[in-house]
Amino acid sequence: MRIVQKFGGTSVANIERIQAVAERVKAEVDAGHQVAVVVSAMSGVTNQLVEYCRAASPMHDAREYDVVVSTGEQVTSGLLAMVLQNLGVQARSWMGWQVPIHTDSVHSKSRIDSIETDELVSRLEKGQVAVIPGFQGLGADNRITTLGRGGSDTTAVALAAALNADRCDIYTDVEGVYTTDPRIVPSARKLDKITYEEMLEMASLGAKVLQTRSVELAMNHHVRLQVLSSFTTAPGTLVCDEDEIVEKEIVSGIAYSRDEAKVTLIGVADSPGIAASIFGSLADASINVDMIVQNVSEDGTTDMTFTVGRADVDRARGVVERAEAVTYSEVRVDSQVVKVSVIGVGMRSHVGVAKTMFEALAEKSINIQVISTSEIKVSVLISEEYTELALRSLHTAFGLDAE
Ligand code: ASP
Ligand code: MG
Repeated sequence: MRIVQKFGGTSVANIERIQAVAERVKAEVDAGHQVAVVVSAMSGVTNQLVEYCRAASPMHDAREYDVVVSTGEQVTSGLLAMVLQNLGVQARSWMGWQVPIHTDSVHSKSRIDSIETDELVSRLEKGQVAVIPGFQGLGADNRITTLGRGGSDTTAVALAAALNADRCDIYTDVEGVYTTDPRIVPSARKLDKITYEEMLEMASLGAKVLQTRSVELAMNHHVRLQVLSSFTTAPGTLVCDEDEIVEKEIVSGIAYSRDEAKVTLIGVADSPGIAASIFGSLADASINVDMIVQNVSEDGTTDMTFTVGRADVDRARGVVERAEAVTYSEVRVDSQVVKVSVIGVGMRSHVGVAKTMFEALAEKSINIQVISTSEIKVSVLISEEYTELALRSLHTAFGLDAE
């Protein structure tokens, strides 16, 4: 078998942890497998590097930012290769530019275009372990790029796809994917399996266990992705196609995100072209809009509410204020909100999920501010102070509590 193993920051946090990781790599090698390993920077290191960039220059050149922040992974790659060699395992490190992992030139949030695998494959076939830094690549401009925070997951999945690996094991500090955040809901359960689509929603709706882009790639390339802990030997969660899951729950998980803020325009003229103007201006400013609601108008004006990333909310207000031909009486901004989402492919064939969700929230007197739905999720925006109460009640209402 050919396996890609990826170890996150806490799994390589110090030399002792790196030694434990090396033992896991060795176990796969001893079992006769070909192994490529992707590593993150030691936990905390990337944050520190980002901090250095900010301190050096608040408006820094993104190309130089990539030069700096990509170094954390370089350190762990070299260290792991050394420790593997000490254990008698043939291993060498390959930087992103050496593989190479080709990306576009959108610095600090690049996308992988292709990975050259001929040389890697021939080394793997000779029994050499390839240790590869996650997060970094070689841009079309021939400079070092990085894939956005959490991007090592994406390196691992892209590599697994390119190498046609039988498995991609993502080692982290939790035992897998949970029905919801166990730090908030103690009765949260680890899922044995979850579909790519559900995982994609979970990741993009706030569960931080995998970078969203990595799940998208795994889904598109049918990479068998497993999330498991490097601290225990417990079985993890398999992310797979729907037909591999026999007992499907209607709702598999509940995600939440505190990363959003709500913007409300009061008294907007209700005429054709207004929405196009508001959201066109936001798009031109590269501000991502998530939920949108507009009310019916009675006097020719209406209220329009939408959510944007919390970090973008001040910019969003500025953009709306400057937007041409948009008249309104007032802009209100509220950052004390949380988006809570119930997710499950079972929703496609079962009715009543929204009803159960709204009833559970109503029972706790939690006011719903905005609602949005898709085929496999229902999201609501509520006041941030009710995050825990909402998660716990919904977890119970959907029968997800561990016995
Ligand atoms: N070290 C990078 C980060 O902290 C990439 C990763 O670990 O996935 O975002
Ligand atoms: Mg991560």
